[in-house]
Amino acid sequence: MFKKPEDIEQEEIVKPGNKKGKAAQLLRGFKDILPADQHYWEFVRKTAESFYKGYGFFRIDPPILEEANLFIRTVGKGTDIIEKELFSFVDQGQGLVVLRPEATASVARAYINHGMMNMPQPVKLFYFGPMFRRERPQSGRHRQFHQFGFEIIGDDSPVIDAQIIAVASNFFRQVGLPDVSIQVNSIGTPESRKEYIKELVAYYRTKRKMLPEEARGRITKNPLRILDSKDPAVQLVNKDAPQIIDYLDDKSKEHFMKVVGYLDELHIEYVLNPYLVRGLDYYTDTVFEIWPQVEKETAQSALCGGGRYNGLIEMLGGRPTPGVGVAFGVERIITQLRNQEVAIPRDDAPQVFLAQIGDQAKIKALLLFEQLRQVNINVAENFAKDSLKTQLELANKLGAQYALILGQKEVMDGTILIRDMESGVQEVIDFNKTVSALKKKLFKPTAGV
Ligand code: AMP
Repeated sequence: MFKKPEDIEQEEIVKPGNKKGKAAQLLRGFKDILPADQHYWEFVRKTAESFYKGYGFFRIDPPILEEANLFIRTVGKGTDIIEKELFSFVDQGQGLVVLRPEATASVARAYINHGMMNMPQPVKLFYFGPMFRRERPQSGRHRQFHQFGFEIIGDDSPVIDAQIIAVASNFFRQVGLPDVSIQVNSIGTPESRKEYIKELVAYYRTKRKMLPEEARGRITKNPLRILDSKDPAVQLVNKDAPQIIDYLDDKSKEHFMKVVGYLDELHIEYVLNPYLVRGLDYYTDTVFEIWPQVEKETAQSALCGGGRYNGLIEMLGGRPTPGVGVAFGVERIITQLRNQEVAIPRDDAPQVFLAQIGDQAKIKALLLFEQLRQVNINVAENFAKDSLKTQLELANKLGAQYALILGQKEVMDGTILIRDMESGVQEVIDFNKTVSALKKKLFKPTAGV
């Protein structure tokens, strides 16, 4: 039974971790994104943004909170996401609401709500934001994680499926992870899938004894989940299982042949993976995932996943409208960038560190700081410190290109020191010329341009 916030007793809110004397804790499965990680996030965000603009997508930001039904109808009742992982609560007057577990259904809802069917088709949309799934926390699985995704709604051509896969493949090349493995399959239409599932269930029943307990429990409930199991005992059984590709109708077969044909033309390497089914109800025809090559064996660490969802808009009450999309997991991409020691460009280092010694110098430095900010020079400082050594150490740690040093002597002389942090060379200049001198140094025209 859900309680109204005002009915919840204080004792229920104060969890043991929040009691006096104990440090406040993060919720299980949630993470802080710390300053030291921000350059990775900035890099992934900027690359994703350059992709959506470059490929002609438009950004959309659906809300984080949605009606539970939006996902129950589309992601599907039998899935883990819906059965176990939704963060939900009853909102006064609005019924059951959830923190979105994914964004494709929200984008499809927005497509219908805003009459995007009246725009030139297909409509190409991009999103970036947090998603929430109450998963069992483990490596690579968080309860709040971030996805960005590309959706193309309103066209059924196989070339669009190939284009989405090409976007994903090029993204990994662009960020410095070219050795990924692209896994593709087709799961046909809901009708052909029904026929296939019947055969699959019948097959698993004959192999019941060879399956571990967990898989047995899934035979009738969700047999497709058994197909992508990592358990070697299950994989052995899967080797002879019927394959969905043999159950596709002619239209789906032709569609899939064209998709892989385009991938061949684009010289995009892929693996045909008959076990890849992606559990969500809304998928039709093409499905794919991209795995880090170094961890060949599992879908557990997939960096992105997507596919065609021709039934989705209709499931949400719109006119039958085809669509295809992909969602990338930002945390997993960053883990790979770290593991593979990919060099990430950093633009968060200050250009200048402004050091000061003594009260007079502090006042002059405060004014100078503002002047530098006004001409868009990135300045770092620590006005609370008086020791030059400490301030220069900080300048070094932050990676500043130049340090400006203002001591008592300089205040008296009307000068300032500029120190090149890399070479250690220092020069004395007229205090009033600080801004112009720095501008000259920082914004030097490149030779030959
Ligand atoms: P999905 O639609 O579930 O395949 O999600 C697409 C991508 O999001 C996956 O390939 C992962 O990279 C990422 N992802 C999904 N669930 C999680 C999670 N719980 N924690 C971190 N990343 C996730």
